[in-house]
Amino acid sequence: MKNIFEVLQDVEHIGITGHIRPDGDCIGSIMSLYNYIVDNMPELDVDVYAQRVPENFRYIKNIDKVIVDYPDVDKVYDVMICLDSSDLERIGEADKYFKSAKKTVCIDHHISNDSYADICHVLPNASSTCEVLFDLFEEDKISKSVAEALYTGVIHDTGVFKHSNTSKHTLEVAGCLINKGVAFSKIIDESFYQKTFLQNQILGKCLLNASMTLGNKVIYSYIDLKTMEENKAMPSDLDGVIDQLRITEGIEVAILLHETSEGIYKISMRSNNDVNVSEIAMTYGGGGHIKAAGCSAQGDIHTIIEDLVDKISKQL
Ligand code: 5GP
Ligand code: MN
Repeated sequence: MKNIFEVLQDVEHIGITGHIRPDGDCIGSIMSLYNYIVDNMPELDVDVYAQRVPENFRYIKNIDKVIVDYPDVDKVYDVMICLDSSDLERIGEADKYFKSAKKTVCIDHHISNDSYADICHVLPNASSTCEVLFDLFEEDKISKSVAEALYTGVIHDTGVFKHSNTSKHTLEVAGCLINKGVAFSKIIDESFYQKTFLQNQILGKCLLNASMTLGNKVIYSYIDLKTMEENKAMPSDLDGVIDQLRITEGIEVAILLHETSEGIYKISMRSNNDVNVSEIAMTYGGGGHIKAAGCSAQGDIHTIIEDLVDKISKQL
C-alpha cells in the first residue's frame, strides 16, 4: 500500500479500531486516521473504537468521538481498519466488527504480526504505527490535529526518540509534524512524562517489589490484583513502570507481571541489548518487538518467573 486512499475507494462505512489496553501509539494511530478521513473525505461515515481512552490523551481532537467498550452494533462496515495490533486476539471484542466487515485492513509495525486481515501493511522497521500511517498520508492533507495525534504515537513508542526503533526517518517524520505546528513540548510533558499521584504511588510499590536475578542481569517485579483494586488503579496507570525497571544499572532484561484477575498475569518485558523478548513472549502466545514485548500467563507467579528467567538465561 502506498496511500491510505487505496483502501478507501468505493466505501461508505468505515470502522477503525486498535488493540486492547490502548497505549499512545494505539490512540494516536486510530485518532490520526479518524481525523484524516474526517478532514479529507467528510462524506464518509467513520466510527472509531477503543477499549478505553486514558486521560492523558484528552487533548487529541475528536477524542470524545471514540466509542469505548465495543458496544454491540448491527452495522456492517465496508472496511474495518485495525491499527497497531499484531493479531486478532489483541483487538479484543472489536473482532465482532472485524468478522462482519466486507473488507479488513491491518496497518502495523510489529515483527510478530500474523497477517490476520485481507490487506496487511506491516513495516517492522517503523518506530510506530503512527510513522507507518504518516507515510500513507499525503503531507499537504495532514492538518495540525492529525499531526498532533501522529506525534503522540511516535513519541510514545520511541520513548521520546530514545529507543532503538528511532531512525533517521522517524526524526524526519517528527520534523514534518513539528512544521505542522504541533505543541510538541506540551504533548511530551502531558501525555508522556506527567504522572498522577496514584501513578507515582503504584510506581513506588512496583519498585519496592522488584528483585534481581541471573547475576543482576534480570530485574523483575509484580503488582497484584488486591493492590490495583485497593488503589482503584487502571492498567494504564502502570505505563512507564517497566521503563523505570529497565534503566536499572547493569540490567539486560526487565520483567513486570501485572495480575489482571486471580492467577492471571499480563507480562511486560524489555531488553536492553541482545535478548529477543518477542521470542520469549511468543512462547506464551504473546509477541511484540525484539526489545519490547508482552504476553499473558496463568498459574503460580514464581513458576512463571522461573520459566521466563530460564528462557532469558538460555539466550544470554
Ligand atoms: P507492553 O509491555 O507495553 O504492554 O507491550 C510491549 C509491546 O509488546 C507492544 O508493542 C505490544 O504491542 C506487545 N504486546 C504486549 N502484550 C502483548 C500480547 O499479549 N500479545 C502480543 N501479540 N503482543 C503484545
Ligand atoms: Mn505501536
